[in-house]
Amino acid sequence: MLISLVVPCFNEAEVVRRFHAHVSREIASFTPTFSERLTFEFVYVDDGSGDETLRHLRCLAGEDSRVRYVSFSRNFGKEAAMLAGLRHAGGDAVVIMDADLQHPPELIARMITLHTQGNDQVVARRTRAGDRVTRTLTARAYYRFVNRLVDVELVDGVGDFRLLSRRAVDAVLKLTEYNRFSKGIFAWIGYPTETFAYENAVREQGRSKWTFGKLLNYGLDGVISFNNKPLRAALYLGLLLLAVAMAYTAWIVGVAVVNGVETPGYVTLLVAVTALSGVQMVLLGVVGEYVGRIYYEAKRRPHFLVGETDADVPRHDPETNSRPSPGHGVPAAASPLVHDSLVEPVARTTPAA
Ligand code: UDP
Ligand code: MG
Repeated sequence: MLISLVVPCFNEAEVVRRFHAHVSREIASFTPTFSERLTFEFVYVDDGSGDETLRHLRCLAGEDSRVRYVSFSRNFGKEAAMLAGLRHAGGDAVVIMDADLQHPPELIARMITLHTQGNDQVVARRTRAGDRVTRTLTARAYYRFVNRLVDVELVDGVGDFRLLSRRAVDAVLKLTEYNRFSKGIFAWIGYPTETFAYENAVREQGRSKWTFGKLLNYGLDGVISFNNKPLRAALYLGLLLLAVAMAYTAWIVGVAVVNGVETPGYVTLLVAVTALSGVQMVLLGVVGEYVGRIYYEAKRRPHFLVGETDADVPRHDPETNSRPSPGHGVPAAASPLVHDSLVEPVARTTPAA
């Protein structure tokens, strides 16, 4: 059984080597305990890092024949990086994990065990132990709110650290939407899923790429990406306001008929105008979010552009001791740039072949 480890990396130069060493050690220790023969490949995705990450990946690919990498032309975000990793992974099962060692490699063995017991998705759910209280409370409130809205069930603490079977990976790859909200995508594909909890490790080096603004936008994506309930809610709100307005009109007319016309009403008028225009703006924004998504989907742009892959660097093959055959080591510009040409699982290219 071939297991692919997909690792998105964005400015992870400080940890990527340590990550590789740590995971390799871990793999070596648990592989003999399995009755099935396990082989591994590492699929690193350099998400347009501005630091030395790519150089480290090149070195790793030179040193360890299990290492493959894809490097983007610029930063396309973690969702795109995971997609690229899944496309390039050739394994019978794929484990997605972060490069910052926050996802304990010790759990990989447990994931594989649960996978061999017939689960297509094995999910590690992190507990919020050690998180700031405000962050925990916001998360809890958010998930309660969002699960009322979305069609798929989103669970707090369930992230991208998971094992996917081959058919689950193929299912994910069939969803080609441009706006990728993988929490939702993974929940949407279904298949037998097993979840277990673990305590999140503190990030050892480097910094989290999440800012408050990014989190807010990510949260909005969660609400908007998977359903049209906000549009439905807008419709109901509009109807409710209309009903209130009609009742109020009837009351005003009634009062005017009984008591004659009164002039005051400055505050009522002002409140009605400002509040209603606020409501309208919000609803317009909701509609705009959907239109914006349609706009991006309609362009049908690739999710990412590849600048370089491991197939581009000459590999030294210890078995034949031969130099790479022509066609390897081509300059990045001459290699396929657009992901579409890379959709087919890329066969592992050894120079001797
Ligand atoms: N990452 C990425 N592209 C980005 C941002 C992050 O590939 O634009 C990777 C990053 O290198 C790491 C993982 O996604 O391996 C999770 O990022 P981070 O640790 O910043 O997020 P957190 O753990 O705080 O949720
Ligand atoms: Mg992290």
